[in-house]
Amino acid sequence: MLCELGEDPAHTAHAAVLYSAALADHPDLWLFWTDDGCYRFPQLPPCLVQGKGSRFGREACMLYDQHASRHSWAISDPLGDLVSEMVRKAMDETDDGP
Ligand SMILES: [Zn+2]
Ligand SMILES: [Zn+2]
Repeated sequence: MLCELGEDPAHTAHAAVLYSAALADHPDLWLFWTDDGCYRFPQLPPCLVQGKGSRFGREACMLYDQHASRHSWAISDPLGDLVSEMVRKAMDETDDGP
């Protein structure tokens, strides 16, 4: 399981979303686990904090409400950054077309 909280050392329990309800007033199902092998399955409402706007609109945080770490849009993701850079370049090239 890949932790959604990134490399942030502030968190003691790792978290991964198992089921995202997609409806605003329904909780998402999360898996929390610690390095010593404790597992919990809490249902938590989504974090409603949004990141700064980009050309793709405002970035929603993918984490749960009141999470301890940085918001998902502030967690550095080298692979994600690489992909978004490639998408940005591809879109820039398309913009230049007649
Ligand atoms: Zn973690
Ligand atoms: Zn958040």
